[in-house]
Amino acid sequence: MPKERLPQHTKILIGLGVGAAAGIVANLFWSGSPQLEWLIKNLIYPFGQIFLRLIFMIVIPLIVSALALGTAEMGDLRKLGKIGAKTLAYTVAVSTVSVIIGITLVNLFKPGEGISAENRAKLEQTFGAGGTQKTLEQAAEAKSWSETLLDIIPKNPFADMAGIFSDNYKGGGVLAVMFFAIFLGIALSFSKSDKVSILIRFLEGVFEVVMTVIRLAMKLAPYAVAALIFSVTARLGFSVVATLGKYVFVVLFGLALHQFGVYSLILRFIAKVSPIKFFRSIDEVMAIAFSTSSSNATLPDALRVSEEKVGVPREINSFVLTLGSTANQNGTALYEGVTVLFLAQFFGVDLSLGQQVTVIFASILAGIGTAGVPGGSLPFIVLLLSAVGIPGEGIGIILGVDRILDMCRTVVNVTGDLTAAAVIAKTEGHTLKVS
Ligand code: ASP
Repeated sequence: MPKERLPQHTKILIGLGVGAAAGIVANLFWSGSPQLEWLIKNLIYPFGQIFLRLIFMIVIPLIVSALALGTAEMGDLRKLGKIGAKTLAYTVAVSTVSVIIGITLVNLFKPGEGISAENRAKLEQTFGAGGTQKTLEQAAEAKSWSETLLDIIPKNPFADMAGIFSDNYKGGGVLAVMFFAIFLGIALSFSKSDKVSILIRFLEGVFEVVMTVIRLAMKLAPYAVAALIFSVTARLGFSVVATLGKYVFVVLFGLALHQFGVYSLILRFIAKVSPIKFFRSIDEVMAIAFSTSSSNATLPDALRVSEEKVGVPREINSFVLTLGSTANQNGTALYEGVTVLFLAQFFGVDLSLGQQVTVIFASILAGIGTAGVPGGSLPFIVLLLSAVGIPGEGIGIILGVDRILDMCRTVVNVTGDLTAAAVIAKTEGHTLKVS
């Protein structure tokens, strides 16, 4: 009989459990022992790094290709004029609401605080790059507001792409690279010649290869998660696990508020349908989104249900849902904002107002640029962390619980696409079946 293969997310959860349990046991019996320190420093932690570096490796090509292509598609749909503008406005407005909900909750509950100074010092030892020190230094040489804003338009985008991960980098960061990619996308959509379509095909090729690299890297995830969580719990013991629980709670609470609060209000007052009937009619789409953790994989079913059960006309679906499966990801935007601020609290990095604003903008843009695949937001988080002076490796701390959060945020992403389609159909004068 062929051996039943465990699904990837089960393996990652097992990795998390085994790594955390082994780390706690090691902490109980050998806390502070030089042998344990040696093992973590020279074997276990570097092993976890292999996975993280594979993700780091493709961050820049991913951002440039995904955002340029996404924007080029939006430009293409300018032909649909009004609907295009409405979709874009809806996406930006509702993503902004979701990020604000997340950031408010994380500031209210402060899930990352409460780590003692001693444990934080140990953490910094684990993750290198003394986050606090770096932020202090950065604060001392802070740029003026006008300079910060101007730096978003890169003088040399390649210098930004190459420099983002270096310590002494002072450019416009993630926003500058995103700006370049969006501008490239706009220009691509304006120029319709054979020469340009070759460039689009090239970017599509880059995007596909990047996806393959992510898929391959994810195979290492269960082991990397075990190694990374072990490195943390063996040094810190149970306190980290309890902190992680608070973080999961804040993300899920924020997602639930957006899913059942914000969407219900939009459905009731703009689409003028009963939210309960709407949620019932799309329940199978939500189930598929939950189990696949992928907006793109859910798209075919979303197209069918939106037409057959909600009553949105096909031409609106194929425009709004297709674009939305990549570009309208409210759950992802909320999650990214919460995660970056949580890790800032965790590492004791005090973010200035300017940096918090960067996190808000970058989270909204990341919601637009993130691929609709499992774990699609991870590379963006790594980049955002580095942009605000938190060690990018901090992502190892949340990786273990990421799958369950991914399942939930994908439900919010996909529900958001269907809600957008219903809103646009209604405001275009169509009658919906669920009203
Ligand atoms: N898995 C998400 C989606 O497909 C993207 C992410 O946030 O990782 O919608």
